[in-house]
Amino acid sequence: MLTVADAPLTLRELAGIDVSRLRGVGDRKRDALHTLGVDNVLDLLTTYPRRWVDRSNEARVADLAPGTEALVLVEVRSAHKRIGRNRRTIVEAVVGDGTGRIHVVFFNQPWRERQLTAGLQVALFGKVDTYRGGLQMANPVVDLSGDRTGRIVPIYPQSEKAQITTWELAGWVENALERCRARGVADPLPAAVRRRRGLIDREQALTTIHVPETIADKDRARRRLAFDELLRVQLVLVMRKRAMERNQVGFVHDIAGDLDGELVRRFHETLPFALTGAQQRTIAEIAADLVAAHPMHRLLQGDVGSGKTVVAVTALLAAVQAGRQGALMAPTEVLAEQHVAGVRQLLADLEVPTRGDSLFAERPLRVELLTNRVTGAERKRVLAGLADGAVDIVIGTHALIQEGVTFDQLGVVVVDEQHRFGVEQRAALRAKAGAAVPDVLVMTATPIPRTAAMTVYGDLDVSVLDELPPGRTPIITRWAGGSLLPAEAWADVRAEVAEDRQAYVVCPLIEESEKLEVASAEETYRRLERDELAGLRLGLLHGRLSSADKEATMDRFRAGELDVLVATTVIEVGVDVPNATVMVVLDADRFGIAQLHQLRGRVGRGEHASRCWLLTADLETSARVDAIVATTDGFELAEIDLELRGEGTLMSTAQKGRSDLRLASLRRDRELVVDARAAAFEIVDADPELADHPILLDELRLLLSDEDEEFLTRS
Ligand code: ADP
Ligand code: MG
Repeated sequence: MLTVADAPLTLRELAGIDVSRLRGVGDRKRDALHTLGVDNVLDLLTTYPRRWVDRSNEARVADLAPGTEALVLVEVRSAHKRIGRNRRTIVEAVVGDGTGRIHVVFFNQPWRERQLTAGLQVALFGKVDTYRGGLQMANPVVDLSGDRTGRIVPIYPQSEKAQITTWELAGWVENALERCRARGVADPLPAAVRRRRGLIDREQALTTIHVPETIADKDRARRRLAFDELLRVQLVLVMRKRAMERNQVGFVHDIAGDLDGELVRRFHETLPFALTGAQQRTIAEIAADLVAAHPMHRLLQGDVGSGKTVVAVTALLAAVQAGRQGALMAPTEVLAEQHVAGVRQLLADLEVPTRGDSLFAERPLRVELLTNRVTGAERKRVLAGLADGAVDIVIGTHALIQEGVTFDQLGVVVVDEQHRFGVEQRAALRAKAGAAVPDVLVMTATPIPRTAAMTVYGDLDVSVLDELPPGRTPIITRWAGGSLLPAEAWADVRAEVAEDRQAYVVCPLIEESEKLEVASAEETYRRLERDELAGLRLGLLHGRLSSADKEATMDRFRAGELDVLVATTVIEVGVDVPNATVMVVLDADRFGIAQLHQLRGRVGRGEHASRCWLLTADLETSARVDAIVATTDGFELAEIDLELRGEGTLMSTAQKGRSDLRLASLRRDRELVVDARAAAFEIVDADPELADHPILLDELRLLLSDEDEEFLTRS
């Protein structure tokens, strides 16, 4: 029998061993490692190489091509210092390998002369240029790779900054791995999960990621370790999801499983179009949630114009059909007002079949607006209707759940835009709901790559409207930089107006201050009225107008009494005027990809071809503007956005503390994310509290964020 001391080492045990226990780590190196965030053996072993260089067929001087970024493993032949023009210190070195030599130059780094002694093995990373007929690298990143024997050389991150060489790190890692060998490293992954997914053992993975024999070995090791990272994240999310389902009592909405109850059927019949396949599928997914005993927590993702409104209204009507109420919560008052107008129009003349006494009794459907701007007698009327159940559907802002609002029986809540609806709001909602928790559908018009959604919203179910209604003509997007080209955009606006179509002009975004933004919008409006668009009928829309003014302007635009709507981003979501065919976005480079995509979605909603002009003061485009010009596919743009901004932004805003992802990338490891999620379901469904997986549970506690840990200890 194994005694505890003989049992394989757990990650927690590795985290308990200080780096100073390793050969060659004294106080100075210990401090240096600390600046890299490496204090214990676990930190060290999970400081993975930044890259691996196969010295037998890569990184040779003979293969370098001018104009490209490259890495070479070379030996220093000589290095000299001189003072150049402007009194700059220049260190010039000659380095080479068996295949050739290259000139290296460093500006303002005098200490390089002492560092680069003849015979030293270094890895250089930088841009290759030609210089006096030969090849040169200027200010490359230098890694002291050491005279290592292996065919594959690991290169570690940030080592230069901390004054630790790559070969020192490699040496300590090897020492640590050697000392783990006697007891071995515990592998908490169930063997069946490992076998089915062809994953190698953890100890082998930890070893070969640092000292692989071949690049293929390294890839296998990386796959296993990245899987572990993703599995930990998914385990917490799946446990959270299952706990929610277990512990919350929801309504079992009394409707047929395919949502074809009378009211919903009538609604679908009144639509002037047939539902798309994606709408039908999503509605079926929601229906299945509604009839289930636990409350729905579903995220509805759909690109601009994919038809989310119909799906949302269907869910609200399902509640009404079951004798309860529906609420739609919008992020702003403007949007709430727009939604009310849209939904009322959509549901005009719809009668609610009533149960009870008479088989044929019907009553009109009552839809009301509730925001902070609804006051006085009107507010009293709406509140009374909500309390006694006379109001079927209420549309509003957070005011819906924050103020002394009581519902008769709130059955379904649709939240438009996830980002502004946090944990507290969900709690408030639960408090409002009494014994049973309403079903919640969160809608977002910002497409999120699937695997990112699985990770960030992994405790929600996700439905995707991945199909646009038929008959849309793709929007053509053009960038106009500098001062000359805008003329073409304004000419386009005039041409479209001459054809009886309409246009939007989006004013510069000033995130710091709404006041400044409004001032700038007013100025833009006056300028366009006087100069570029003189003679056209212009309207102005911004967040500081009273709702009555806003509504009046929108109504006039909808009715075609205005040719051009000059607006701030208040038109980002929800405005639906199919006759509008041109949009001009001013200072487009101030907006993010998702926002530009949303804005652009205001045109191209009808049968006519539409165009979007992106104006920038700069003569050069930005990657974001380029992306918007290149594609209208929201999911593709979301991928590009993720690429450009890095997943850090996504993770840190939406879900703190997903820092355990060192190797795994939501971009590159999509398949692995899906696999890890499936494995997490497998494990949790068989063992909800991870009672039979104590090491795995302990790793979650060790490596995940406080928030997640709190959840784990609470349950
Ligand atoms: P989203 O909110 O997803 O951006 P909307 O719900 O506002 O999209 O719908 C965009 C437009 O498409 C609306 O004019 C709507 O009436 C129309 N629409 C929705 N579903 C369909 C469909 N199945 N076929 C044709 N048009 C549709
Ligand atoms: Mg919409």
